Amino acid sequence: MKRQVIVVGAGPGGSTAAHFLAKAGVDVLLLEKEKFPRDKICGDGQVPNCHPLFKAMGIYDEIRQNASILHGTSIASCNQDLFSFTNPDDDTFATPRRIIDDIIRRSALAAGADYQENFEVTELITRRGSVVGVRGLYRGKPMQLQSEVVVVADGAHSRLSHQLGFYGEDPEWIFYGGRGYFDNVREMTDTIEFFYPHPMFFPAGYIWVFPLGGQRANVGIFITELALKKSGMRLEDFIPWWRDNTTLGKLRMGEARLQGEFKGWRLPTWGMAKENYTGGAIVVGDAGNMIEPTFGGGLPHAMVAGMTGAQVLAAALKEGDVSAAKLKAYRDKVDELLGGGYALLTLLRRRLFTEPKDLDDFLAAVRQDSSLLGFSGSQAMIKYLNKYKDAGIATTGSAYSK
Ligand SMILES: Cc1cc2nc3c(=O)[nH]c(=O)nc-3n(C[C@H](O)[C@H](O)[C@H](O)COP(=O)(O)OP(=O)(O)OC[C@H]3O[C@@H](n4cnc5c(N)ncnc54)[C@H](O)[C@@H]3O)c2cc1C
Repeated sequence: MKRQVIVVGAGPGGSTAAHFLAKAGVDVLLLEKEKFPRDKICGDGQVPNCHPLFKAMGIYDEIRQNASILHGTSIASCNQDLFSFTNPDDDTFATPRRIIDDIIRRSALAAGADYQENFEVTELITRRGSVVGVRGLYRGKPMQLQSEVVVVADGAHSRLSHQLGFYGEDPEWIFYGGRGYFDNVREMTDTIEFFYPHPMFFPAGYIWVFPLGGQRANVGIFITELALKKSGMRLEDFIPWWRDNTTLGKLRMGEARLQGEFKGWRLPTWGMAKENYTGGAIVVGDAGNMIEPTFGGGLPHAMVAGMTGAQVLAAALKEGDVSAAKLKAYRDKVDELLGGGYALLTLLRRRLFTEPKDLDDFLAAVRQDSSLLGFSGSQAMIKYLNKYKDAGIATTGSAYSK
């Protein structure tokens, strides 16, 4: 049977696309190679920009019940100066991906999407330059499925994005992240914490501590492929290095115990984004290099792209035209919704997270200038750059979307 849409990958991007396609009355089959609930290596942070989508999908309350709710951001520079931008109205959630991804996936099924797990897609089927279905393995058995359109949402190591020529490979814009769940993490604040402890982490690399309740936290490292190579270290070396060589690292991790394994994963960022559509297919989330290149957030971007893709595809299917010319509307809409946020965060990366001294200067300024307080961390950065560096950045809008 030919489906209207096949979505490959039931992560946040694919499941959001399937949710909104099904809601629009489109026949949609969501394929996933794993069995849910499954783990996904992540910091587990969901910034407030995710909340409107959670609400639109009817899953906000369930996510909130499962989240550790944090109120702001703390940032430390190489000189061990930790500053907290607290804000009681700024609810950032920290929810393990094993839980939240399953909630998002179930919302697609509740909206009417069909779902098949243990199905690994190995290849897109193309005819005369357009995508017309997928080949894969279902429980190890070869299968072939036809569709009018395919949504490619198979994540950061996307085999299908490779096939389409969209896979990014620039070591300055690819990050590697590693994370572990730790118990007995000490002196945490009521915020998500970012530590920039040494010049080798720059540009933009850091260690995070995202509290999950009590003394339990998701602790990890985020670093460009280029900086990782230069450091001569392995991902799993950084947290012990931080604990043994810095005051703040010792304070947080001196007594901490790793629960389970410390695991790493790839983060392809927007700095190397290529096309994200072709005849009969669109690419969503990490498969389309949609992670922002400054703090490594990608969940809201994957979900916004999934929702936008669903809207464009529902309209295109109604008109019976899924050509590349028609699906270009997807790229245009993604640019419109996310492009401003990417540009802003890229600018913050260049102005504050490339040279350690720039971050030191910013934190020194917020300690002295109360007019920079009362905002989220990224808004305080914009205010600082405008006031002290004549940056001329618009102060309205958020760092994640226009
Ligand atoms: C260490 C680390 C920390 C991070 N921290 C944060 C954070 O705190 N906040 C944040 O917003 N973002 C964070 N991110 C980024 C975020 O995890 C991603 O941007 C987000 O998961 C993207 O969602 P996605 O749906 O595109 O891909 P994924 O979540 O990777 O989902 C892809 C799905 O496709 C499935 N799949 C893969 N191949 C196939 C195949 N061939 N056939 C069928 N199914 C397939 C996978 O099993 C998976 O379920 C982090 C990333 C890393 C690596």
